[in-house]
Amino acid sequence: MEISKRIALVAHDNCKKDLVEWVAWNWKSLLNHKLICTGTTGKLVEATIHKNLDEGDGIKHNILKLKSGPFGGDQQLGAMIADELIDLLIFFWDPMQPHPHDVDVKALLRIAVVYNIPTACNRATSDFLISSKLVAEKYEPQITDYTKYLERITPA
Ligand code: PGA
Repeated sequence: MEISKRIALVAHDNCKKDLVEWVAWNWKSLLNHKLICTGTTGKLVEATIHKNLDEGDGIKHNILKLKSGPFGGDQQLGAMIADELIDLLIFFWDPMQPHPHDVDVKALLRIAVVYNIPTACNRATSDFLISSKLVAEKYEPQITDYTKYLERITPA
């Protein structure tokens, strides 16, 4: 991982207020990183960061907005993780409500573990993650060695 991280941000509807508050609190640190969001979350994150920037020097911060979660945004993020294009995942998923794309949520959380992606699912963990000194350093995660699994089918 480079010094500037590729941070994915996603929040379910009931958790969007939490994420917006968290972004408003951490927007300066987030400017050092590339942000990738599902669609609706991305609009809110962008508006929150730009609102703060407008009070400063007016520089815009580019945010990659994928599709909305239920329309494939979580799957797009999962594919980016598999392609090693994401370094950190901040995912405020709603523990109190089922969603039409619950299977996509599970898939995203699973692939994040497979690729050893630092993942925060609530504000407290996100605070610990963003304030880690490793966020501002190069970092080489130790990836689980799946070689045996990948070679499990031996040709006859
Ligand atoms: P949204 O998607 O940012 O488009 O609301 C998030 C999700 O539901 O996974």
